[in-house]
Amino acid sequence: MGTSASHLKARLEGLCARYDSAAALGKDPLSLVLGYTEPLDQEVAAFVAAHLAYGRVDPMVRAVGEVLRPLGPRPAAWLREGSEARIRKELNRALISWTWRFHTGPDLVAWLLAWKRLDQDSGQGLEAQLVPGPGEEHDAALSRLVQRLRRELPASYGTRFTLPDPLEGAACKRWRMFLRWMVRSGWPDLGLWKRLAPDQLIIPLDTHVARVSRFIGLTRRATPDGKMAREITESLRRLDPADPLRYDFALSHLGILGDCPGLRHRRTCAECALYSVCRAGSESAARILS
Ligand code: SF4
Repeated sequence: MGTSASHLKARLEGLCARYDSAAALGKDPLSLVLGYTEPLDQEVAAFVAAHLAYGRVDPMVRAVGEVLRPLGPRPAAWLREGSEARIRKELNRALISWTWRFHTGPDLVAWLLAWKRLDQDSGQGLEAQLVPGPGEEHDAALSRLVQRLRRELPASYGTRFTLPDPLEGAACKRWRMFLRWMVRSGWPDLGLWKRLAPDQLIIPLDTHVARVSRFIGLTRRATPDGKMAREITESLRRLDPADPLRYDFALSHLGILGDCPGLRHRRTCAECALYSVCRAGSESAARILS
């Protein structure tokens, strides 16, 4: 027997009550972005933090902080006012031994210089680069930006790893997260960009969101790719048409914080709000929302 949308929505609200918290946010790279007060500084910090948002969360958040430190308290002004040569020299020195998994210091120097050039083009940061043309979906603009960055950035492994193109079928988790932070205005996001619509955002699909979404019937797909991200988003849109990513933070942090054993059991899942709608470990993978 299927689960009603209203019951699922109530359970997801219960999940938010547990995870939409300062404690969970402290384990998220967005916490560093929220340390800045000026919108353009938050954008630069988000551009770095989302780019590096993969792997174990504690060392990843540390790595993001190490990249942002040499930019000082006003990173956007620092990037705008310095010449490319001076920025390159100072960051190369500061990040000479910095690495985060696939990324090296030179990758991040190139990434920050890319923000400077994109900002110079628009005069107002990155938003204009990600606004779709008339009749286009968000992804057309994202694809154009990705293709431009592929042409202009050095072809290192770290750079290529974080430049998937949504029109090639990739889930684009880090770009989706950047967009969620910048566009959505509900907690904990920034809501700085007003020319993009929150109801058009696609969920930032990571392994945690993919797994729990299968457990609760938001998707039946097996491969965590762009199609799965769209299917999950469509299921969530039926619960909240104006703000389909409302539950993303809670869904991802259930996994990030290690609270989901991946097998539904009364003892280990006692505190999970999704218990009554979860099919983890069950042969029944029937779609809950129909
Ligand atoms: S396996 Fe347990 S903790 Fe994970 S979603 Fe299902 S009920 Fe929640």
